[in-house]
Amino acid sequence: MVVAEGVHKRYGSVDVLRGVDLTVRRGEVCCLLGPSGSGKSTFLRCVNRLEKADGGTISVDGEPVGFRRHQGRRHELREKAVAAARRDIGMVFQRFNLFPHLTAAENVMEAPVRVKGVAKDEARQRAAKLLDRVGLAAKADSRPAQLSGGQQQRVAIARALAMDPKLMLFDEPTSALDPELVGEVLDVMRGLAEDGMTMIVVTHEIGFAREVADTTVFLDGGVVVESGPPAEVLTAPRQERTRAFLAKVL
Ligand code: ADP
Ligand code: MG
Repeated sequence: MVVAEGVHKRYGSVDVLRGVDLTVRRGEVCCLLGPSGSGKSTFLRCVNRLEKADGGTISVDGEPVGFRRHQGRRHELREKAVAAARRDIGMVFQRFNLFPHLTAAENVMEAPVRVKGVAKDEARQRAAKLLDRVGLAAKADSRPAQLSGGQQQRVAIARALAMDPKLMLFDEPTSALDPELVGEVLDVMRGLAEDGMTMIVVTHEIGFAREVADTTVFLDGGVVVESGPPAEVLTAPRQERTRAFLAKVL
């Protein structure tokens, strides 16, 4: 579903990604770990083309991100085509970024109605189902300010699912939450994984990674230091840098 090869990204004179290779198979969960500033968010932003990589290639479901090949040459896609491709990728951020003036249901309906032209009644029914899936059927008419952080993040997940993504990207989805609210969000994510969603999850929740991830990737200084099944990377890391990081977060 995702194949990244030699991805480079620099900001000014700073090399943030220095040749990242990463593969996520359909239906698998990849947990991306690494210290602050290692390039995790930048990598996710390159995958859904919020950022343009300076080198290397990324493809999602067989389609190169941001360009197409024609007669062996590389042609950059226009902004409209990039935006269309981005619709297939759901993203959930640390900060939930819900529309404060809209109810939970309206937040979930917004993109299907505005972007895809789905009829409002149909979008509303679908939103009800998605809110039920994240355990918030009773909160459809609540505004974000009336919801806890964990509930808001679950609405944000339902909102991303409303566009029927084939890939979900999570960037530290529980880092801004009070500790007692982390579990309910991780439970929803675990359910998505069980339903076969392909996901890349940036997280410091090692327990979640150990339990849910198919592959764990440890990024440091813009390169993949170590990757493999969680039983290897988290339980018996081979690299000193991975060991040092795990000792800090565990
Ligand atoms: P992580 O998510 O692993 O904490 P980031 O991908 O956010 O790391 O950032 C990696 C590095 O890139 C950091 O040094 C950060 O300061 C730098 N960086 C990220 N975004 C920008 C930007 N838009 N402009 C300049 N530097 C950036
Ligand atoms: Mg980050």
